Amino acid sequence: MSSVFTKIIQREIPSEIIYEQEDIIVIKDIHPQAKTHLLIIPKKEIETINHLEESDRNLIAEMFFVAKKVAKNLGIEQGYQLHFNVGEKGGQEVMHIHLHLLSNI
Ligand code: 5GP
Repeated sequence: MSSVFTKIIQREIPSEIIYEQEDIIVIKDIHPQAKTHLLIIPKKEIETINHLEESDRNLIAEMFFVAKKVAKNLGIEQGYQLHFNVGEKGGQEVMHIHLHLLSNI
């Protein structure tokens, strides 16, 4: 079954899309934990960081470049946090990797 993020990517579920490119989408988190709380999501459905393959190396790097670009576009580049939750015991609820970007600027 598709993840909730795949459904968002395929426009089956609405969300606030902040940025999109061929392989990555950035949306607003539905339950923000900071003034700005975004999710940087690869369109490829990878369950957790533990499921990464060697061929995903560039995609993961690109997620950080997208974080940098979006932070600059939003004027929050002076201060933000980036994190991945990994696995249920690591607080991961949606099993489709995503990089949280949070800022209170
Ligand atoms: P996790 O705990 O898996 O690292 O983070 C999942 C995040 O996805 C949570 O912060 C949660 O609020 C967010 N989320 C879950 N479902 C939806 C949704 O349907 N739309 C949006 N925009 N965010 C969601």
